[in-house]
Amino acid sequence: MRNQPRQQYPVLNQFASDNYSGICPEAWEAMAQVNQGYANSYGDDRWTAQACDLLRDFFETECQVFFVFNGTAANSLALSSLCRSYHSFICHEMAHVETDECGAAEFFSNGTKILLVPGELGKVDLEAVEHTVKRRSDIHYPKPKALSITQATELGTVYSADEVQAVGQLCKRMDLKLHMDGARFANALASLEVTPKELTWQAGVDVLTFGGTKNGMAVGEAVVFFDKDLANEFDYRCKQSGQLASKMRFLSAPWIGMLKDMLRHAAHANRSARLLEQQLRAIPGVSIMHPCEVNGVFVEMPQTIIDALFERGWYFYTFIGSGHARFMCSWATTEADIDALVGDIRKIVSDKA
Ligand SMILES: *Cc1c(COP(=O)(O)O)cnc(C)c1O
Repeated sequence: MRNQPRQQYPVLNQFASDNYSGICPEAWEAMAQVNQGYANSYGDDRWTAQACDLLRDFFETECQVFFVFNGTAANSLALSSLCRSYHSFICHEMAHVETDECGAAEFFSNGTKILLVPGELGKVDLEAVEHTVKRRSDIHYPKPKALSITQATELGTVYSADEVQAVGQLCKRMDLKLHMDGARFANALASLEVTPKELTWQAGVDVLTFGGTKNGMAVGEAVVFFDKDLANEFDYRCKQSGQLASKMRFLSAPWIGMLKDMLRHAAHANRSARLLEQQLRAIPGVSIMHPCEVNGVFVEMPQTIIDALFERGWYFYTFIGSGHARFMCSWATTEADIDALVGDIRKIVSDKA
């Protein structure tokens, strides 16, 4: 992978990303169940209809749902349905849509500009958002049309229900549409223990990218429009961008199998990260950088330890968000995996002492 030394030998589970994990049993089983006989293609099948209904039940509202292959497509197609080419949307300077999607949002919207704002703990600073909207109103400035927030954030923190509400109110006041990148929405939900609706449409979210992949599916994210007018012709956008799966049932069925277990898997990933955090805190020279609110632990430690871990075959990223070492847990992380990583760090530290 990018900037990482090649893995020398197989080790236990890795902590580079929650997408290193396999497919969880419920998603696998759901795919097996629809792998019988024939079904209508391009989403015109009963499982896709059922998955959409279950998502409507989940959010307790009549939302419009589309399934696409990955998060980059989900985010950028959602944003391109909120903005025209001469508009702009605002997001945090560390947002995935800005730093990790290779310009897809600008590409799919034919040039919508991204305006960046700072903010503590990966969350947008509301005053900076307001300033960004108000600082210009002339024809020469790309008109701000939407705000995109990430829940859970790129730094492993969450917006509380009240914080999302405050974001939503600002958007109403500033006439911005609100997009939520929920690649780890399930982790945020499990962490906050509130209802899905409180974190989304009741707080003013217009469209949510709901991640399946990082939570145990093989592939697929749901784009959920709470403002149904915004979903107008979204099916054409999906098709044109190569995101309309012809065997759609294999993207949609896992949602049927998983929705009820999603929070359990996410809660497991979150608990694993907290366990890892607790153990890391006890190691001299290792500091935890951000509150560990979902399934990632951000760590500052000497480069010598980082290099020694890479040499031992561990994979983790050091370029995400704040640029600290990031350890992600998933539905599949075990205590043995955590013990193995922590044991290696302890050994490296004591060898160097
Ligand atoms: C992983 C991730 C995505 C989706 O990425 P893809 O690799 O395109 O599926 C989107 N947003 C955030 C915050 C992510 O972590």
